[in-house]
Amino acid sequence: MTIDNNTVVSVNYRLLVSSGNSEKELVEETSAENPFVFLLGVGGLLEEFEGHLKGLKSGDTFDFTIQAENGYGLSTPDNIVRIPLAAFVAEGEELDTEMVATGNYLPMVDDQGNQMQGLVVGVTDEHVTMDFNHPLAGKDLHFSGSVNEIREASEEELAHGHVHGAGGHHH
Ligand SMILES: [Zn+2]
Repeated sequence: MTIDNNTVVSVNYRLLVSSGNSEKELVEETSAENPFVFLLGVGGLLEEFEGHLKGLKSGDTFDFTIQAENGYGLSTPDNIVRIPLAAFVAEGEELDTEMVATGNYLPMVDDQGNQMQGLVVGVTDEHVTMDFNHPLAGKDLHFSGSVNEIREASEEELAHGHVHGAGGHHH
C-alpha cells in the first residue's frame, strides 16, 4: 500500500537545516528503535512534509527540501522583545544567572496565558532580550530518510486523531 490520508506511517529520517547559503546543520535524527510514527492527514505536521511522502511505499527513500516560508515561517523582529529584568526575579531573591543566560531557552507565558519557549539573546542590568521566533524559523528544512511501514489507521485512531500502539499513544 502507499502513503495517503488516514494511513499510519513509520519513517526514519534526518533533518538538516540551512539559511541562505549557510552550511547544512543536523538538528534531528530518528533511530531504528525510535522511528517517527504518525497518522497522515490529521494536521499538526507541515503540509509539504506530508505532501512529499504521499504515494511512497514501504522501503522507498525520500530526500526533499522545504523552504523556510513553507516550514516554520520566517524569523521576524516583532518576535524579539525586551522584558524588564525584574520579571525574572522572585520577590526578595537574586537573579538566577545560570538560568537567565544568553543561549538558554526559558518557558514563558504570554498575556493570553499561552505557554511558549523563548531564547535568551541578551541580558543587561535592566532587561532580558528574548527571541520568541520558532527555533527553526527562517531555516530551509532538508529531510532525507526511508519509509518503514504503512498501515490503515483503525477507526479508533481516526476518531482520536493519533496513533495507538508502538510509537503512539498507550491508553
Ligand atoms: Zn487515542
